[in-house]
Amino acid sequence: MQSRQNKKAHENMLEFYRFKAVYDLFAQGFFDEAKAALASLQQAYISLCDENIVLKQQVNELGDILHLSQNLVLDGTVCWVIADKIKQGPYCCACFSEEGILSRLVETKDGWQCPHCGELLDKDDVKVNNFLNNNGTTGFSSSSILK
Ligand SMILES: [Zn+2]
Repeated sequence: MQSRQNKKAHENMLEFYRFKAVYDLFAQGFFDEAKAALASLQQAYISLCDENIVLKQQVNELGDILHLSQNLVLDGTVCWVIADKIKQGPYCCACFSEEGILSRLVETKDGWQCPHCGELLDKDDVKVNNFLNNNGTTGFSSSSILK
């Protein structure tokens, strides 16, 4: 039994044998039938191109999610994203944990505040140092990496 996704993929497959059928129709002089079969193939090709665009977008989005999950670290009460050996952030861990969004904290006179949820963190709780240690590590333990 085929899954729904496999069945849909099968429906969208370009049936290559149909090109030979179109050729045969032209060769035998059945021009109207050949034109109709060719138009049908053209429609199937356009559908495949559209599906390919959507799938490429999904692959890119999943790549972004994977990259984020591999480079997001928890440092006490805030999150950081490690990109090109530089810590980006700080970001609100509450917003990431609850809604999956990265909300960059804003430094105010009272501390660091999340513009999304309003959480206010004491300045002493946020150690801003945007560079990695001399040995190229974050200084975070592996247990601090969010899964
Ligand atoms: Zn927040």
